[in-house]
Amino acid sequence: MNKVRVSFPRFGSYNIPIEYIIRKGLDCDYVMAPPITKKTIELGAKYSPDFVCTPFKYHLGSYIEAIDDGATTLVQVGGACRLGYYGEMHEQILKDLGYKVNFVNMANANFNKPLTFYDEFKKINPNMNVKKVAKATLLAIKMVEIIDKIEDYIRENVGFEVVEGSFDKLHQDFLEDLREVEDKKELNIIYKLYMRKFKNLKINKPKNPLKVGIIGEYYTIMDEYSNHYMEKELAKRGIVIERWMNISNTLFHNYEKEIKQSIKKYAKFDMGATAMYTIKKAIDYAKDGCDGIIHVKSFGCTPEIDTMPVLQRISEDYKIPIIYFSFDTQTSDVGINTRVEAFYDMIMMRKGEMMK
Ligand code: SF4
Repeated sequence: MNKVRVSFPRFGSYNIPIEYIIRKGLDCDYVMAPPITKKTIELGAKYSPDFVCTPFKYHLGSYIEAIDDGATTLVQVGGACRLGYYGEMHEQILKDLGYKVNFVNMANANFNKPLTFYDEFKKINPNMNVKKVAKATLLAIKMVEIIDKIEDYIRENVGFEVVEGSFDKLHQDFLEDLREVEDKKELNIIYKLYMRKFKNLKINKPKNPLKVGIIGEYYTIMDEYSNHYMEKELAKRGIVIERWMNISNTLFHNYEKEIKQSIKKYAKFDMGATAMYTIKKAIDYAKDGCDGIIHVKSFGCTPEIDTMPVLQRISEDYKIPIIYFSFDTQTSDVGINTRVEAFYDMIMMRKGEMMK
């Protein structure tokens, strides 16, 4: 009997734990959507309404590419903004384009009602075994934490690698080996092995390097193609990159009440999606001695647009420069790089002045 072939839009390194749940928990095949490229966004933009934010377009392009690679069931996750409505729109657009796929929309599930997840998983595989899904999900959570720990280390050190490309190469090897992991024991071995390998990579890090915090919208900040490889651009210039926003921090180690409390001077109400985290981390990075902050978002992202006047106040209060990037399908690499370069020159001169 042919297995169901499930896919999920490409999203950073997180497709690996998702693949694990689909294969090991739900006993289905997984179609890894191709890495995001110009073709993905062109496909997505072609069939999307103009006004939607870019994650919608990336997801749609990624779905089409996955279908072309054989996916028969697509999964959408939903989110705390209009992303929650995107599933229905994606489904309808794909239907109108003539694609015959099963579309499972996790936005229908509710974290406060775990059984709703069961209902959605059942739509992927009606014969699923709950215990297997639960076991695979727990391991996938661990995988996410490991990915985030490794990638945190990379952000902190890649800007100082002695052998150009050594961090990137080892990261690719890590992800390839992670994909082969079968159980918890193997996962722990891979984690320890690669953490050691990363720590053994030669770096030449000064005592007081430039440090920049990145804040902003969930998808754009975590998907390197969407932010035009912003972190790599910073690393090339020998900058330590701080980025709190990842899946572990937002989903598993999130202290929403404390966050609300700590930003109340700047925002009394939750402005939706990632807005609270953006404000909170801007304050933290300013206090932690970052030399500058980079705010990234998709064009038209209302929650993040709302944070911008607040960020201006934080910038003035803490005397920290903040630069704003808004990405759309038309954004050019040249424009981004020129602004990153100018920002780098400014924070470097400023640091030099402050250390005199
Ligand atoms: S957070 Fe912003 S960019 Fe992301 S899906 Fe929501 S509205 Fe769109």
